[in-house]
Amino acid sequence: MNKEKSGFCRKISWAISPWVEEVQISPDPSLSIGALATNNKPGIYCIKHWADCFMNGVIIDIDDTLIDTARRMHELWGLLLDREVPREAVETMNLEQIFMKFATKKQMSRVKEFQKRYWDLLLCLDEAGVESLKLHEPMPYAADVLQGWSKKSRLIYLTGRTENMRSLTLHELKRFGFPIANTKLVMFQPEDYARAKGEDPSGPTLVDVKSKLCTEICKNSEVVRIIDDYPGYFAIFQQLEIPDRIGFLRPTRYQAQQYLDRGATRVVESWEELQDNESRAT
Ligand SMILES: [Mg+2]
Repeated sequence: MNKEKSGFCRKISWAISPWVEEVQISPDPSLSIGALATNNKPGIYCIKHWADCFMNGVIIDIDDTLIDTARRMHELWGLLLDREVPREAVETMNLEQIFMKFATKKQMSRVKEFQKRYWDLLLCLDEAGVESLKLHEPMPYAADVLQGWSKKSRLIYLTGRTENMRSLTLHELKRFGFPIANTKLVMFQPEDYARAKGEDPSGPTLVDVKSKLCTEICKNSEVVRIIDDYPGYFAIFQQLEIPDRIGFLRPTRYQAQQYLDRGATRVVESWEELQDNESRAT
């Protein structure tokens, strides 16, 4: 069966990727399918949780949606500029504003170098960035809500963290009690940050990359809900016609209206507000 012609097969392929690239429905009445694995060895692969193939998808951002990064960001700025940067500044100002306000003249003359090091620390391409992950904290109530959603929906974590952070991220999600089984973790590639680092001004913006990944997910899965803390992504989610688009308010940076103006269907200030909404993720 040609998976391009069948949404049914696309869903199956998505559910069991990356192990299988071609899928055929088996006449076997048990919950197994015939498949061709990526190593080109034909075989039979059993899907234990058949229902996963037919579950609707829910996309969840990680940083500052599920995990509070404020303490880590405060430490990273201190490391980068080798001085105390007030936490309030880190939480309210953007990258450029912080640098312009707190960098020394000497540091300002090496702006490109600092721009690169900032991202290397943040994305754990620099070892000091890994160490500071211990400062992350889970958002209250988020793990309980996701455990509830995971019973009815397929959770897809979509994060701007890069592939080199995959095992660190899975470990962290597990440590904070977020569901891992039957979920998918979609990440950026380190090269997606070439433009942000000032290495390739013609490269894609981070919004472009998020849009590409989100579009791909929506092609392979019936996504019914998305939650993210950055208002600038909501035009993408609206364009993809994801029905339930939740802005997770970062009150130190944005106002609720900014999410709504860009395409959010609702805005929440806490995961506690989502505790009774499990039934909507069907
Ligand atoms: Mg975020």
